Amino acid sequence: MPRIRVITFDLDNTLWDVHQVIGNAERAMRSYLRQHAPEVMGLFERGEAAAIRDRLLRERPEITHNLSVLRETVVFEALLTTGMAERRAVAVASRAFQTFLDARHDVIYFDHALTTLEMLSGTYTMGALSNGNADTATLGLDRYLTFSFSAEAVGASKPAPAMFHAALAHTAVQPHEAIHVGDHLVDDIAGAAGVGMHTIWVNMRGHELEGDVKPSAEVAGLDELMEAIRAIEGL
Ligand SMILES: [Mg+2]
Repeated sequence: MPRIRVITFDLDNTLWDVHQVIGNAERAMRSYLRQHAPEVMGLFERGEAAAIRDRLLRERPEITHNLSVLRETVVFEALLTTGMAERRAVAVASRAFQTFLDARHDVIYFDHALTTLEMLSGTYTMGALSNGNADTATLGLDRYLTFSFSAEAVGASKPAPAMFHAALAHTAVQPHEAIHVGDHLVDDIAGAAGVGMHTIWVNMRGHELEGDVKPSAEVAGLDELMEAIRAIEGL
């Protein structure tokens, strides 16, 4: 029996490049708005939508953990600013966000992502821990990742212990029986290490370690994951 029973994965920038995905999704949303509410486009171009976002984050700090509500509310308030009636603004913002979300799931996986998940899923119970709003079922990743906790659902974002505790409680394993895999030194590595989990840092761009964060293992590509897990099991 392997000592490690559970592996949790960060999603954005660990299994795919999030900047590319979000860029495409934002373009899709703006193209929807250009068609259905062209008068709002100026607000985005002049940075006024960003100011609305900053104000929402100040007024409703809890919204940080719910990027979906944040994004839709920014559009809604921007539409109101243009003088659109509230009922119509609700409907247009909702459809605009749906356009974003559909494109958000059009991801291009990093090399070896799917083959590695498939291979590991034969041995380990695996799940997703994400601060973002990608949905593993929509992506078809629920074949490999049998559970998923988002910051939206938990009400706290990594590196908060609540995210990692949610996975440990769900799978009923001890922290030392679990590995978290992610690209972010603080959110993923320090967060998971803080609750006693093993960690694998996905460092595809060759970044240097910062501060006193020390991952249990480091990989430069997802094809190295199996070897890193074996190394942790052999500790
Ligand atoms: Mg990430």
